[in-house]
Amino acid sequence: MSVIPGAWQRAARGAGLLSADGVPAPTIFAEMSALAARTGAINLGQGFPDEDGPAEVLEAARAAIAHGGNQYPPGRGTADLLTAVAEHQERFYGLRLDPEREVLITAGATEALAAALLALLGDPDDEVVVFEPFYDAYAALVALAGARLVTVPLRRPDFQPDIDELRRAVGDRTRVILVNDPHNPTGTVLSAEVRSEIVRLAHHHDALIVTDEVYEHLVFDGAHVPIATLPGAAERTLTISSGGKTFATTGWKIGWLSAPAPLVDAVLAVKQWLTYVNGAPFQPAIAVGLRLPDDVFTGIAARLREKRDVLGAGLTAAGFEVSVPRGSYFTVADAAPLLRTGEDAADFCRALPGRTGVVAIPLTAFVTPAQRADYATLVRFAACKRLDVIAEASNRLAGLGA
Ligand code: PMP
Ligand code: GLN
Repeated sequence: MSVIPGAWQRAARGAGLLSADGVPAPTIFAEMSALAARTGAINLGQGFPDEDGPAEVLEAARAAIAHGGNQYPPGRGTADLLTAVAEHQERFYGLRLDPEREVLITAGATEALAAALLALLGDPDDEVVVFEPFYDAYAALVALAGARLVTVPLRRPDFQPDIDELRRAVGDRTRVILVNDPHNPTGTVLSAEVRSEIVRLAHHHDALIVTDEVYEHLVFDGAHVPIATLPGAAERTLTISSGGKTFATTGWKIGWLSAPAPLVDAVLAVKQWLTYVNGAPFQPAIAVGLRLPDDVFTGIAARLREKRDVLGAGLTAAGFEVSVPRGSYFTVADAAPLLRTGEDAADFCRALPGRTGVVAIPLTAFVTPAQRADYATLVRFAACKRLDVIAEASNRLAGLGA
């Protein structure tokens, strides 16, 4: 039987995301996790924690399942979680939201991103500006929405965008500036100057801003600054986050979006035909998480910071040149000193389980084909693993130069 290419297949093929015979390549995360499972290597590839998060959050999900919270929740999300998201945005950022009209619960940040892009983009000439490297789903979702991706490079050592390159990328066709801050895969936190330039450009070109803030509580120095808090930004910003990273519940897929009511309604119009709703017993549990005291959140960031430091020291000792991340689960390291002749970081990562029993992700997985050369020696390591696991990975990597 042959499969008639549907909209996604056509879009994905056009964007180079699918092979000519229509077979979907596994995502780089699935490929590398399978490699880790097959070889028994330590998985510093896919960004998921190997320890449980706050006990209160896990207990609340168990209680919800035990007490009948197992049927469809309301389309926008449970009233309790909508309120908890609004309270969270006010407590941490001073943003005041109407939980009934300006917040939407989604199946992870991924569904919020998908529904937002599908809702906001319509014309093949619509452009979405993103910083590159970017989380792999962005290119796929922009292709699915039938729009064009325009990228602004983030370069070492600090992976901040160049303001002039940002200005050149945004124009009158720009419908959305899609911003991931703190950033996967580089771990960068945007400077105040870049944030305000994004808002200025969005105003000037009448574009919307979609932010992906899933690492909002994993910032190592100072506090996270949502773009929606900048003057004049909230009216044109859709702010997206999820509970997966903060509470170490990546498999629960509880996300949310907040924006002015008409924008939330536009996203809901798509979202209700994607999943409709999800995660009934996990919604009250994430509400419990969002209401935990401030010291729980600072503790989560402090523990990850320690892991980042141990991982960074291990990578440096092994001979990598490390870019110290300011947030997120990830550390980027230059493997150039360790590459064999003719090898790039993708070859290196495929061989790494065999060489040392560690899995990591090449940065080329996060860039468009034209930009691969600029990132060809860089590797992303995930620090969201137990300290003893990171220490063991460091021991194994130490043998690389030998
Ligand atoms: N955005 C970024 C930048 C991510 O790294 C991830 C996944 N880890 C997601 C979105 C997806 O989040 P969720 O699992 O909540 O869909
Ligand atoms: N966001 C996770 C990462 O960057 C992976 C999520 C996924 O597998 N899609 O590692």
